[in-house]
Amino acid sequence: MTGNTSSAFHSAIHSDVLVIGGGPAALSIAAALAAEDLQVTLLCPQGMPTTWANTYGIWAEEVDSLGLGHLLGHRWQNTISRFGPGDDDPTADANRVVVHRRDYGLFDRQLLQQHWLEICHRHRVSIRTDGAVTISHDPFSSTVTTAKGETVQARLVIDATGHKPLFVTQLSSGLVAAQAAYGVVARFERPPIDSEQFVFMDYRCHHLSAEQRREPPTFLYAMHLGEDRYFVEETSLALAPAVPFAVLQQRLAQRLERQGAAITAIEHEEFCLFPMNPPLPALNQRVVGFGGSAGMVHPASGFMVGSLLRRGPQLAQTIAKALAESQNGPGGISGSELAQRAWTALWPAEEQARRAFYRFGLQKLMGFDQARLRHHFEAFFQLPDHDWYGFLTNTLNLAELGAAMAKLFALAPWDVRAGLLLPARSAPTWSMASNTDAVPIDH
Ligand SMILES: Cc1cc2nc3c(=O)[nH]c(=O)nc-3n(C[C@H](O)[C@H](O)[C@H](O)COP(=O)(O)OP(=O)(O)OC[C@H]3O[C@@H](n4cnc5c(N)ncnc54)[C@H](O)[C@@H]3O)c2cc1C
Repeated sequence: MTGNTSSAFHSAIHSDVLVIGGGPAALSIAAALAAEDLQVTLLCPQGMPTTWANTYGIWAEEVDSLGLGHLLGHRWQNTISRFGPGDDDPTADANRVVVHRRDYGLFDRQLLQQHWLEICHRHRVSIRTDGAVTISHDPFSSTVTTAKGETVQARLVIDATGHKPLFVTQLSSGLVAAQAAYGVVARFERPPIDSEQFVFMDYRCHHLSAEQRREPPTFLYAMHLGEDRYFVEETSLALAPAVPFAVLQQRLAQRLERQGAAITAIEHEEFCLFPMNPPLPALNQRVVGFGGSAGMVHPASGFMVGSLLRRGPQLAQTIAKALAESQNGPGGISGSELAQRAWTALWPAEEQARRAFYRFGLQKLMGFDQARLRHHFEAFFQLPDHDWYGFLTNTLNLAELGAAMAKLFALAPWDVRAGLLLPARSAPTWSMASNTDAVPIDH
């Protein structure tokens, strides 16, 4: 493969692949490509190592199955959800608990980053503290200029700059639904959840006024972080326009007050906002995306890191194979064909079909009111373990996914069935300004 060269006399850097970005997507794909013995340059404005602001949670089996369970900083066995309306309801099971019987984990962000960085260092990835600015293409390579005035030439460019990508063009399809959440790592008057517990979704609405219950539903995502520290986050699964942070903050305060668990000291605040159901980028463009830039967030759950870990090596193998073939043959593979092969490996037809399925489901859920959504999730978590886990992590094949949805339909009460069958209602909108106007899409 070509060598990395940089000198005062010859300022262009030559690589097989240039990866742009400094988040989990960029680092994971740079490591996967380097492990295929490709010459990789990584351009990240903040340098490496860096501090990632987001907390990354994952169902533990996803990392265990890859032999990476040691990258979790926290792991919970006591994992639950609640879908009853709450303790002001006359039914006896209003506070019933759904026990998931599956471990959930939170990545140790430093360990995760170190894991990918070690692979990068071992395979001599050239990591440059710099940002990409412009790009141009010739038939066999692409050239990127950087903020520091360098020029990087590569056979392929991978844009991993997140949900608002720099070079990957995303097709416009009107308003995109966003997951919005406001969370805090904090100390409380009383523990907001049980000790050593993880709460995936608490959709109880007993703390809301009658008017608030008619508004789009939100849920609590919470975890005990040890000693008297807890992370609690009020979350809107998806809505377009997004639920404003002020609403989420207000609802979290109401919920905690109702539980007698008012916050006494805040250690960290998280403002979470990212698109859930963007259209796929055009798969015939010259720059390839990975991560948020390539629409890899699971449109029904918001998870992505497990996907990066599984799909990165497959993509890297395809790219390495195409480049190796090209070296052997006369003329070589063109830049457009290389990009085309990479996009097809990332988004094969079945993967696209599953994504369309999840997007369709999300569209339905966004039209569900408080009660119907609670009924839906209650039925969803009655599915066999393998089915609900596979749905949330995108590890079912298309046939399994279809079968799981048929089971869900059979299990679900009539209001949910009607909601799934009838045309999706448009979700209520908010009078306040959309978050998208107020904050950057990623933090
Ligand atoms: C608050 C929050 C919490 C989340 N929690 C989870 C979770 O628990 N589990 C999960 O699976 N997913 C989660 N997600 C979803 C998803 O995993 C994240 O959005 C993830 O950070 C996306 O990774 P990325 O690398 O594609 O983009 P980003 O993390 O946004 O990284 C983009 C990178 O590109 C760099 N960049 C930008 N412009 C340039 C340029 N011109 N040149 C070079 N580099 C540039 C940026 O500096 C940044 O380093 C969460 C998202 C958010 C916002």
